[in-house]
Amino acid sequence: MELVNLLGLPRAELEGFVADRLGAKFFRARQLMKWIYRRGAADFATMSDLAKDFRAQLETVARISVPEIVTEQLSNDGTRKWMLRMDQVQGIETVYIPEPARGTLCISSQVGCAMDCSFCATAQQGFNRNLSVAEIVGQVWLANRELAAAPSGSHRITNIVFMGMGEPLANYRNVVPAMRIFMDDLGYDLSRRRVTLSTSGLVPQIYKLAEECNVALAVSLHAPNDALRDQLVPINRRHPIAELLAACWHYIERQNGRSVTFEYVMLDGINDAPEHARELARLLRGHPAKLNLIPFNAFPGTRYRRSGAAVIVRFRDILNEHGVIATIRKTRGDDIDAACGQLAGQVKDRTISRMGSRLTAEPRAVAEVR
Ligand code: SAH
Repeated sequence: MELVNLLGLPRAELEGFVADRLGAKFFRARQLMKWIYRRGAADFATMSDLAKDFRAQLETVARISVPEIVTEQLSNDGTRKWMLRMDQVQGIETVYIPEPARGTLCISSQVGCAMDCSFCATAQQGFNRNLSVAEIVGQVWLANRELAAAPSGSHRITNIVFMGMGEPLANYRNVVPAMRIFMDDLGYDLSRRRVTLSTSGLVPQIYKLAEECNVALAVSLHAPNDALRDQLVPINRRHPIAELLAACWHYIERQNGRSVTFEYVMLDGINDAPEHARELARLLRGHPAKLNLIPFNAFPGTRYRRSGAAVIVRFRDILNEHGVIATIRKTRGDDIDAACGQLAGQVKDRTISRMGSRLTAEPRAVAEVR
């Protein structure tokens, strides 16, 4: 019989499991959650406030199974990147970004990505599969363990962002329960403003999310008009800008949120002209919106270049002058290819989404990151 992985199990399911499968009291589930998330335990034997025979019983039906670290890289700026192995051939990347007052963990939701945005390294890898709830939560579990063991000691995860590999709303079924664990007081106990879901613009799922889960929303806009966005973010052909923005304003209203953060990658000569900034301002002015300008991060084989520093500053200033709050995202971890859009991991069998069949692939050497 297969052991049930308790990592990532929603609270109600864990309570059900404990009561129905083990005949134990509900509060055992609470104790288990504290051990797993707060104390980072993966071994029932260490759970000292659980009765010995209950622990022995757990061993026979359950496990706490976490992804395996393949490589760890440390950037000059303190950013850390882990490549995690999810199964025999597939790898994903998780990035920790320390700042003076906070620590942000950037996690992945899929192996690869099917959205095919033309400026993103993950897109070039193609798509293999969705991550499970345990694999999503497991990234936080592992990062916590590694940070606790890190020499300087003071590292802590205060924010979690779905800005790693994959389109989180295309894996809605697993991403939402994972976010609930991030915010559960017996889980990672983060406030809803400290969990950010970033999407390329899956409109129906934004409406669904508005009914079901309350987190900060970031949207990858990248262009002020449909002609350009169709080229950069192909999902725009299905859900154009007007539809996307309507969904965003609905989300904020429904969730009583502060604002949507729009991400805008600065591509030299493509979307960085003053007229683009003015066009953007017309779209966003008067709405609960903030704009985050991301200097493009290059990766092998890309045809794009980063806009010049002065161009980016001018772009921001035009937006600010036109009543839209815009900031420039500081590039972090680019020396280890951990910056936005540089996560490639190891995606094998990427023809699945297109061909619907599993091709056998030679596993790459596990230590190879790119
Ligand atoms: N699929 C989600 C999350 C992915 S990435 C989404 O699209 O929002 C997080 C951000 O990095 C997105 O805004 C993405 O568009 C941006 N990004 C992708 N490639 C980039 C690159 N090469 N340079 C800078 N930012 C990039």
